[in-house]
Amino acid sequence: GAKDRGRNQMRFFARELSHRARERLQLEADLRRGIDQNQLCLHYQPQVDAQSRTLTGLEALVRWKHPEQGMISPGEFIPIAEESGLIVQLGDWVLRAACHQMASWRAAGLRPPRTAVNVSAVQLSHGQLTQRVADALAASTLPAEYLELEITESFLMRDQERAQQTLAELRELGVRLSIDDFGTGYSSLAYLQKLRVHKLKIDLSFVRDMTSNQANAAIVKAIIALGHSLGLEVLAEGVEQEDQAEELRAQGCDLIQGYLIARPLPVARLHNWLVSSTPLAHDPSIRAS
Ligand code: C2E
Ligand code: MG
Ligand code: MG
Ligand code: MG
Repeated sequence: GAKDRGRNQMRFFARELSHRARERLQLEADLRRGIDQNQLCLHYQPQVDAQSRTLTGLEALVRWKHPEQGMISPGEFIPIAEESGLIVQLGDWVLRAACHQMASWRAAGLRPPRTAVNVSAVQLSHGQLTQRVADALAASTLPAEYLELEITESFLMRDQERAQQTLAELRELGVRLSIDDFGTGYSSLAYLQKLRVHKLKIDLSFVRDMTSNQANAAIVKAIIALGHSLGLEVLAEGVEQEDQAEELRAQGCDLIQGYLIARPLPVARLHNWLVSSTPLAHDPSIRAS
């Protein structure tokens, strides 16, 4: 009867739950090992000037090549890393790898593009973030101005006092600060002003259909105006189409990032991209001749 059916469903549910929990624990253990065994790597996505399309910076995005499961996306393992506290170790690895990459470009006589690294709220509230960032810079003798840190807006809202304090320290250290996924949280103007970051990144959910959705177009426009009124640079992320880029340029958005320009690329492919997309190669006066 119905009672049996209920009991069966319950049993099924419990089995499913414990299966998920085991999978998660396994993934956590794998990730712990993966960090030590160099299974992580960084891909770099270009950020360009919305007008000239010249490179202004890069965003480092972590990738994990699991020995059996292949590539696992950060959307899947970052939350596990955050809940288990592994994010602190993982975050250190990312910081050091990004700084090391910029230092090797410098050693090769190149001026590296400023590179942004994503920082999780757990890293921010764990304490010692400033020291960890300073250590990563020192380990590769990289000047702080080359490094940018991206902090998600919703995370900044959780512990406002602490966030403000840490951001002030980081700013003092000389790194650049940007607010990621902007528009999805609820920052007040007053709070935003106190944080004194350098850049706002408009969340890709607003950019995605800004050319067909009036409400999102209005939000994008408002964020650009807000950012500029506070003296901040504004970047739109997730730009996939030329008409989005054109609309953003027309509205005075400073920078764009997205598949239209380039996907996140491993270093070797980034080098190819840089060579083939130099401003000269895209100069319309050259194409015309
Ligand atoms: P995010 O920092 O907001 O990064 C933007 C995400 O959008 C990236 O996904 C990027 O690959 C993707 N993306 C870029 N351009 C486009 C586009 O034109 N269209 C679409 N649909 N997507 C685009 P990814 O690499 O999977 O990273 C997802 C999130 O994982 C990141 O969001 C960030 O919150 C987190 N994450 C990635 N790497 C790290 C890291 O090293 N540390 C921490 N704490 N979090 C990271
Ligand atoms: Mg980001
Ligand atoms: Mg984002
Ligand atoms: Mg995001």
